[in-house]
Amino acid sequence: MDKKNTTYDFTIIGGGLIGSLVSVLLSRNGFKCCLVERNSLAKMSGLKKFSPLSLNYRSIQILKKFDLWDKEVIEASPIRNLTMKCFNSLNRLKFSSSDVNLRYLGYIVNKFLLQNYFIDIAKKQEGLDIFENSSVTELEYIKNQTSCLIKTSSKELKKIHSKFTILSDGEPSELKEKLGFKTSYDYHNQTSYMIDCEAKIEVGAAVQLFNQDGIFALIPYSTNKTSLILSLNDENKDKYINEKNQVSMEYINKIFSNYLENIKEMRIISSYKLKSSKSKEIIKDNVLLLGNTSQLLHPVGAQGFNLGLRNIESVIDLLNRKTNLKEEDISKKMNQVGVIIRNDRKDILQMTDIATNFLASSKSIPRIISSLMINFLKISQKSKLKFLKKVLGIDNCSYLTIKG
Ligand SMILES: Cc1cc2nc3c(=O)[nH]c(=O)nc-3n(C[C@H](O)[C@H](O)[C@H](O)COP(=O)(O)OP(=O)(O)OC[C@H]3O[C@@H](n4cnc5c(N)ncnc54)[C@H](O)[C@@H]3O)c2cc1C
Repeated sequence: MDKKNTTYDFTIIGGGLIGSLVSVLLSRNGFKCCLVERNSLAKMSGLKKFSPLSLNYRSIQILKKFDLWDKEVIEASPIRNLTMKCFNSLNRLKFSSSDVNLRYLGYIVNKFLLQNYFIDIAKKQEGLDIFENSSVTELEYIKNQTSCLIKTSSKELKKIHSKFTILSDGEPSELKEKLGFKTSYDYHNQTSYMIDCEAKIEVGAAVQLFNQDGIFALIPYSTNKTSLILSLNDENKDKYINEKNQVSMEYINKIFSNYLENIKEMRIISSYKLKSSKSKEIIKDNVLLLGNTSQLLHPVGAQGFNLGLRNIESVIDLLNRKTNLKEEDISKKMNQVGVIIRNDRKDILQMTDIATNFLASSKSIPRIISSLMINFLKISQKSKLKFLKKVLGIDNCSYLTIKG
């Protein structure tokens, strides 16, 4: 790899799922790119921890379109049924892939395996220089050159001149702050626990439950293993997790009694205080924010990566094969991308807001609103279609069973 180059069409800062993927796709389209990642990009070995990532139907289609879907390598497991149950309106939504003549609604993958897969491809990608163990320390837009000057801690390359920059350095992003992108935050008074569990389960049947103690998900990833995501309201979390950081079998049995049997092993994989964020602008001075840098979503509905992937598709579709795009053309096209991304993001943020503020609330007004909303979903074809498209990524498909 020629690392003497200091001028790139695109510099991508942050090599998480989003940064590594967009770097591969832009390079494939003939753009000279560089990816800067502050940590090592060596394969994560062992992978004893299963970190679930739900890819919806649309995400699979996008990965297939970009020839980046190898379900054996990433050990993907199909989701064929999805049940959503809302305690405060006593409503239940059920989706089954067979009802809509599909083989699956989505897939569960291990986030670490997917990350390894993207990085392996990135390392072999022509036209993509990768600088790992290198932090971007400064990023400045040089107005009269309509390009960015980027300083890094890399010994190989201290300064980069980039026509355009994609900032995918996650949340929090110091660089985003320095560039003056404003961000709004939401604190949910919840703590999210990711739990690995061995039990008797219905293979391929995912569940999302809204309860007065929080929001719960069951995500099966093999014949007898499942991830449980508990987003627990802080005032009730001690019921579920004791002071030794052990999960209460009694409460898990209570919550998931219809879906889990013979639980053998349960261990907490990770936990964190829930916060979501949204940057007010997405694009400014030849810098586009993507992935967690642009928005950090509540895990309800598992939409974070799915949205980021659609945003990447919008970037690639608009730039398409490089036809000697001039700098101002790249900039113009990227501004158009910004508008598409903003609209897509608005819909998803609205849905996660509804889910967190209404469906899981025990207060009387949210209870009435959530009951009205679900009943509206039962009768309005338009809202059914929108729901299926936005949440599951399934287009032109009207079937939806709603049981009271
Ligand atoms: C519990 C949980 C469950 C989830 N489940 C789902 C799901 O089921 N479906 C779904 O679609 N999404 C899900 N998500 C969201 C999904 O994981 C994220 O949307 C996705 O991982 C975002 O990746 P990213 O590349 O934007 O950010 P990150 O993974 O945070 O990557 C940012 C990268 O930038 C690097 N970096 C930071 N600063 C610098 C710097 N100055 N210089 C160079 N590099 C830098 C970091 O080292 C890091 O590698 C879930 C998230 C959580 C927490």
